[in-house]
Amino acid sequence: MEFAATAHIDLNALAHNFAVLREHAKGAGLIAVVKANAYGHGIVPIARALPDASILAVARVSEARALREAGIERPILLLEGVFDEHEAAEAQALACELVIHTEQQIELLRQHPPHDAAVWIKVNSGMNRLGFEPESFVSVAQRLDSIIGRNRLRLMSHFASADLAPDFQTESQLAALQPILSTWEGGVSLANSPATLSLQPASPDPRPTWIRSGISLYGIDPAPGLQLEVVRQLRPVMRLTARIISERELVAGDRVGYGGRYQVKKPMRIGVVAAGYGDGYPRMMPDGAPVLVNGQRTGLVGRVSMDMLAIDITEISDAGYGSLVELWGPSLPVTEVADALGTISYELLTRVSDRVVRRYGTDQVA
Ligand SMILES: *Cc1c(COP(=O)(O)O)cnc(C)c1O
Repeated sequence: MEFAATAHIDLNALAHNFAVLREHAKGAGLIAVVKANAYGHGIVPIARALPDASILAVARVSEARALREAGIERPILLLEGVFDEHEAAEAQALACELVIHTEQQIELLRQHPPHDAAVWIKVNSGMNRLGFEPESFVSVAQRLDSIIGRNRLRLMSHFASADLAPDFQTESQLAALQPILSTWEGGVSLANSPATLSLQPASPDPRPTWIRSGISLYGIDPAPGLQLEVVRQLRPVMRLTARIISERELVAGDRVGYGGRYQVKKPMRIGVVAAGYGDGYPRMMPDGAPVLVNGQRTGLVGRVSMDMLAIDITEISDAGYGSLVELWGPSLPVTEVADALGTISYELLTRVSDRVVRRYGTDQVA
């Protein structure tokens, strides 16, 4: 029995989500996004548990290296490409697929062309983060054609607001891509999780297409505001738990934790839990943020410490020393916990720190 913060990783849920997404994607290939330590779930075990993902996507050369060192031989896509000669040479040695979004990267590709990996031309369709403007796509494609050949070139773009109503920004981004899409015959990848689940293609694309799935693969709703039907089929992969290591009775006027942020209003029983910001549970989480104890919902009290946090267990009579607390997981959506802090699930998951033990299994029993 572990008292300290532990992330239980349900590999059955992961496989289930993969199947749901693949079914939903209607014949498109699935790029499993495993950057940022697989959104906190552990990059190598997650990559191994997704043998049918055609491509693994990462953000850093170091992440690609970790996968290759673990013996993973599948295609690895570097989502932002490489930035200097050193990275270009390493990416070539690691046989990475590269995203190309700047003139500098075209030059690096010329110096270190991949031996046979694909190259993705990133087009800016309105997010204004990365990518060539749509007007220059044809000339960029011609130049890359002369370096590695046309049949290894693919097109990528990224939606800024696919978690919001489509007419907010997604439709105008699609319109900006239309002139290219109407003539391009190579492979295409446009959709991240929210776009995959919210945009239903009218008919399967005749070109090779890929969806890029991160958060949805981990079973988390990518667009809580859209209330998407298909999201109900997803199962959270991570359950973050810790146990109560101390309990205490308090009276009105007592204060809890650093800075005395929480002041007790009426007689109260609190439990101190062995999880804190050193584990990735944010220090700024407000009083009342949801937690589950013995399956019952209650709230955080006082500022989160590095190794501990306190919760209200007044109404949960069977809670005490050793009781299991779920900080998020199948019974407490991480989206709700994120909401309490004014952030998103992605940030909470990627913050789960190295000292949190990851337990990989096919069930969720703590
Ligand atoms: C991280 C990332 C994704 C994954 O997004 P999700 O919303 O987690 O599915 C897809 N594409 C790019 C370019 C990314 O950087």
